[in-house]
Amino acid sequence: MKKIIIVKYNEIFIKKGNRRLFKNKLLNNIRKAVAEFEKVEVKNIHGRIIVHGYEAENEGEILTRLKKVFGIYSLSPSLKIEPDLAAARQAALQLVSKLKIKPDTFKVAAKRSDKSFPITSPEIAREVGAAVFHEKNIAVDLGKPQLVVEVEIGRQISFVSVDSLKADGGLPVGSSGHGEVLLSGGIDSPVAAWMMLKRGMSLSATTFYSPPWVGDESLKKVEKLCSILREWGGPDKLHVIAYGMAQKELSQLNAKLALIMYRRLMLRVAAQMAFKDGAKALVTGESLGQVASQTIENMAVIEAASPLLVLKPLTGFNKEEIITQAKKIGSFETSILPHQDSCSLFTPKHPETKAQLKYVLRYEKQVEMAAMVKELTDNAQTIEF
Ligand code: ATP
Ligand code: MG
Repeated sequence: MKKIIIVKYNEIFIKKGNRRLFKNKLLNNIRKAVAEFEKVEVKNIHGRIIVHGYEAENEGEILTRLKKVFGIYSLSPSLKIEPDLAAARQAALQLVSKLKIKPDTFKVAAKRSDKSFPITSPEIAREVGAAVFHEKNIAVDLGKPQLVVEVEIGRQISFVSVDSLKADGGLPVGSSGHGEVLLSGGIDSPVAAWMMLKRGMSLSATTFYSPPWVGDESLKKVEKLCSILREWGGPDKLHVIAYGMAQKELSQLNAKLALIMYRRLMLRVAAQMAFKDGAKALVTGESLGQVASQTIENMAVIEAASPLLVLKPLTGFNKEEIITQAKKIGSFETSILPHQDSCSLFTPKHPETKAQLKYVLRYEKQVEMAAMVKELTDNAQTIEF
């Protein structure tokens, strides 16, 4: 019997009008995720997505990849069978024998999508159930069983599966437009990026660093974070903006407001990159009250500089929650590597916490802002992923 993986998705069903579009995106994303494995095939068969044809030894790695494809609700490693009761029984016993933890209770859920198959679903369930009960000595519980053995007899494919691995759900990347994430080397912005990917947004990234005051290591870190996010369908490119000189100029206008002005400049430049990338929104990792700069007053003044919508998916998260998520994503270990924070450059110990737009504008008027934005944008270096 051949191993296959049954991919289940649910949320995309909600979007009735766009169902086909979403399904095609999901299929494409799954194909991309497993493309490097030989002979693997991804098929859409009676409302289910089936991954098959791969070498058995690659199954673990294929599952790991698929767990990072948004839109997938669960994955069931299964056995493909001939449409035949004896085969279903044998496959069920084989799969139950291989379970790491023997369950106390089980039930069989059978589905017969091939109505020409002579045995009805309840009968299939009863027959396969009896075999598992007698041979494996596991009690039947039709209410809340610890294990569900699924049997499907279909026209094109028949299979048995026992265990499903939960994935993150969400929407397929590329189904909710394109965004530009402001990616730093910190913990938060990679998590913010992940949250938007999960909502189906494809991303490009822009990062700011401050040579000659901050070295290339901080850039390497951001690149590494991008490649971690790439496994989740993350940024296809990273724009690198060297803005140390611009920071110096802004800080000389007013040191206490420097951080606010850096942020406003970042949003303006990132928006230019967004226009080039076809992105319709900016994404940042800001979280309310996390640091002195992230008060509601400051956030409002910062955002006022953006010509584009700024999405801040972490606004209501606290640090612990963000760290837990970063660990799950796989970005945490990279984010905590020591690096110099570009934003603290030339800023006082106690920056403004209640910025007022009129004062900030007064200072900003003293520099050629449009020229500064253009220069930074024109000199962007782009790394493709
Ligand atoms: P992070 O962990 O994402 O760096 P943080 O808690 O350090 O966040 P801030 O430094 O105040 O918060 O930054 C808020 C947001 O501004 C970041 O999440 C990120 O989206 C953006 N940002 C900050 N610094 C940079 C940078 N050097 N390059 C690109 N984006 C940045
Ligand atoms: Mg930071």
